[in-house]
Amino acid sequence: MATGTINVSVDNIFPLIKKFLYSDHEIFLRELVSNATDATLKLKHLTNVGDAKVDYGNPIIEVKVDKDAKTLHIIDQGLGMTAEEVEKYINQVAFSGAEEFLDKYKDSAKDSGIIGHFGLGFYSAFMVADKVEIITKSYKDEPAAHWTCDGSPEFTLVDADKTDRGTEIILHIAEDSTEFLEDHRITELLNKYNKFMPIPIKFGTKEETLPLPEDAKEDAKPETKTVDNIINNPNPAWTKQPTDLEDKDYKEFYRELYPMQFEEPLFNIHLNVDYPFNLTGILYFPKMTNDMNIQKDRIQLYQNQVFVTDNVEGIVPEFLTMLRGVIDSPDIPLNVSRSYLQADGAVKKISSYITRKVADKLKSLFNSNREDFEKKWDDIKIVIEYGMLSEDKFFEKADAFALYPTVDGTYYTYEELYNKIKANQTDKDDKLVILYASNKDEQHSYIEAAKAKGYEVLLLDSPIVSHLMQKLETSKENISFARVDADHIDNLIKKDDTKISKLSDEEKTKLEELLKEVVPSEKFMVQLETMDSDATPFMITQPEFMRRMKE
Ligand code: ADP
Ligand code: MG
Repeated sequence: MATGTINVSVDNIFPLIKKFLYSDHEIFLRELVSNATDATLKLKHLTNVGDAKVDYGNPIIEVKVDKDAKTLHIIDQGLGMTAEEVEKYINQVAFSGAEEFLDKYKDSAKDSGIIGHFGLGFYSAFMVADKVEIITKSYKDEPAAHWTCDGSPEFTLVDADKTDRGTEIILHIAEDSTEFLEDHRITELLNKYNKFMPIPIKFGTKEETLPLPEDAKEDAKPETKTVDNIINNPNPAWTKQPTDLEDKDYKEFYRELYPMQFEEPLFNIHLNVDYPFNLTGILYFPKMTNDMNIQKDRIQLYQNQVFVTDNVEGIVPEFLTMLRGVIDSPDIPLNVSRSYLQADGAVKKISSYITRKVADKLKSLFNSNREDFEKKWDDIKIVIEYGMLSEDKFFEKADAFALYPTVDGTYYTYEELYNKIKANQTDKDDKLVILYASNKDEQHSYIEAAKAKGYEVLLLDSPIVSHLMQKLETSKENISFARVDADHIDNLIKKDDTKISKLSDEEKTKLEELLKEVVPSEKFMVQLETMDSDATPFMITQPEFMRRMKE
């Protein structure tokens, strides 16, 4: 039997760990299942390269609750540890065996998916347990080891009689953490953090209904069989090659991610990059509905298939946080503060990569099926317009596919619109004037009048569009937007456009005076003009400056 003192410089690190290591106690399970996964992946790698001559088999990880003993067990069939290795890896706090492994097997293990980083994960067990045991048997031909520690820096290490390869971690759950002895709580945690981890994770069993045989009698009852309850999908869609996936696979995965979402996504973007940083993922454009809960179903961030957070602020540009899906990167520094994230170079690159990919995808959708793109426009425009406003790089790219619908439902790109109106929608200073309506019903007569003059009238009614107009006015040369009921429109009448009024001059003056009496002069300008349209006997215009003043 060996006893010793855990190798840290403070007297008792455990109260510190409990308080400060992680703000969220529940992550202990994520850490222990990650270690079990690493142990399994390491063994897989060792057998692949011939350093371990054992049968890898089909290993699973089991999580078990023993309510009577008040213990939680995490059992793996990975590479295990010898007593010497327990001394080395467990007793040295903040020494990461995962990092050492990656160092040793550098190139060949680059894509092995090993999760560990900091050499602190194991000790998170002491956030919820007042005693922890490790019973472990290495794949090497050496006796099994049994390590026990009750939360003081003293530990014991003795031989054990475990014969099958792998490690069992036993947590004696503390009085204040008994929630972690409840099945539903453990299920909840496994679903949250471990749902897409690469090694199958068993938690209890379940009854599975067997299909009835072909010749079954009508009243035959289907048989059931008890099977392992595997809580995860070890091969989620984002870890596969885009060429191996069909549209239906992406939709299926969307439902897996958001089981409560019944609306299908509009389209997806598969992210896949390995230089200068590693990142995979799938983003979805959801159908924007009024009752959608942006707070609830958000983009999820993973590290090597381990859930980290669904707060991707700082990693994904803000305008894309309305999307859904998954981002997985071993290169995003975890467990660090948000302000650090925002300053981190890798994170900045990731953010601009994602922006570019989204823009490229939108462009290719636009180019390959314009009709479909136009149909989706109303659902995706919020994201695109917001992106154009907030990210200059995106603005430049979006110019090619951002659409401007007319009141009649024609969709123009900026360039198409420009070419269409440049000949007869300029003002006296030769400035291009883009007419728009914000409300088809309220501005109906103005719209009709403008159309009668051969002008194009856009329908711009999204909440952020007035900001976008200002942005366009400053970034495009010599253009301005004018609402169709503004005075601007008068300046557009073509020079040779002379019309004969149906009213005599005298009648006109009378009418004008009458109107001025009833129309508030600080809001509207009364000016009689001869109209093309018979349907509109006269109009009252509100100059653009007056309108903007009001807003
Ligand atoms: P990290 O995972 O960052 O390396 P941890 O504190 O989580 O740090 O674990 C420390 C080390 O203990 C691991 O790197 C590994 O060598 C060893 N270890 C922990 N759990 C297991 C396990 N289930 N099987 C084998 N080795 C383990
Ligand atoms: Mg770990």
